[in-house]
Amino acid sequence: MKMTETQFRLIKEQLYKLTSKECFYKHKLEGIDIDQIQSQEDFEKLPFTWKGDLRDAYPLGLAAVPDDEIVRIHSSSGTTGTPVIIPYTAKDVEDWAIMFARCYEMAGITKHDRVQITPGYGLWTAGIGFQLGCERLGAMAIPMGPGNTDKQLQMMMDLGSTVLCATSSYALLLAEEIAKRGIGDKIKLKKGVIGSERWGEKMRQRIANELGVELYDIYGLTEVYGPGIGISCPHACGMHMWDDYIYFEIVDPKTGIPVPDGEIGEIVITTLKKQGAPLIRYRTHDLSRVIPGDCPCGSPYPRIDTILGRTDDMVKVKGVNIFPSQIDAMLSSIPGASSEYQFMLDHMNGKDICTLFVELEAGIDREIMEKIIGETFKAKIGITVNVMPVAIGELPRSEKKSTRVFDNRY
Ligand code: ZN
Repeated sequence: MKMTETQFRLIKEQLYKLTSKECFYKHKLEGIDIDQIQSQEDFEKLPFTWKGDLRDAYPLGLAAVPDDEIVRIHSSSGTTGTPVIIPYTAKDVEDWAIMFARCYEMAGITKHDRVQITPGYGLWTAGIGFQLGCERLGAMAIPMGPGNTDKQLQMMMDLGSTVLCATSSYALLLAEEIAKRGIGDKIKLKKGVIGSERWGEKMRQRIANELGVELYDIYGLTEVYGPGIGISCPHACGMHMWDDYIYFEIVDPKTGIPVPDGEIGEIVITTLKKQGAPLIRYRTHDLSRVIPGDCPCGSPYPRIDTILGRTDDMVKVKGVNIFPSQIDAMLSSIPGASSEYQFMLDHMNGKDICTLFVELEAGIDREIMEKIIGETFKAKIGITVNVMPVAIGELPRSEKKSTRVFDNRY
């Protein structure tokens, strides 16, 4: 991906600013002469910023402006250990809203829409980002937050929500509930804006069909504003990224070297305008690739593929790299298999054992499916797997991100 002149200028300005005052990056970039950075290649030699660096700066060590300029903080989910806290200035909050409103516009959402927001509000950035963008656009926000499915569906019917914002697993749960209760004709949804979880084609089709909506993938992470830094367009061929606010690279997760356009790697983000907590070469651990060429929609914003997984979801079995997205793709080629699965890796008697739990549609012969899925897995992914069919709804649905690959070997 070629860095534009404007991006280069903004990055240089930011680097000068950050190294000239007491802050996180003054120390991180100690000993680096900013004058010597004269090209994209020079920039690519700067050290990466890791989530661990951000954690070490807890609580407010990332702040690059005086305290009185901070208007808000958010925190990324600290399921293990110390959370990361990101401070925002008023300008950061506004920039985020501008980007988010642009996402809604890309999805064809207007001020006439009624937007039901189911991601959580609070320390993490999801709900409030959807809200900010919605208000900036001028649409009607319905700030539900997660859970309470009865109330969600009641409001959806009574208010005639036209847009659903949700994680893919919660959208699926709602779609299944609507089908189960037979209330499809009372639902007015037209579009779904689905948050940054990796999800397969089959799951997408089930949600789209059962809800009768067009789906848009929105991308973002708390460390870099939150959701809303990129979204898919009506052509659904990757997500356009707002490259006037962020500069992104795709690097080999092992070596850290940028990969050629089109190849899969880890998304690395540098913020161009952020004030509260600017980031230089932040390793997101999200796997994607640049989609080369122009989008048929005519948007000048560059595209990346929908998120293909996390670098830590990538598991190696008998020398073969396995991504969850490969399993999604494999299952979507098999009629009767649902999009929901869990892949377990265990080590027994000196051998790696792989087990695939997969939901089957009702009335499908389990033994035949075991055989078909096992053979397809071997053919497409290259390893032998024990297939364990289960009924639709038996695997956990989550309101947040669902984990599908479990490595129990160590
Ligand atoms: Zn497009």
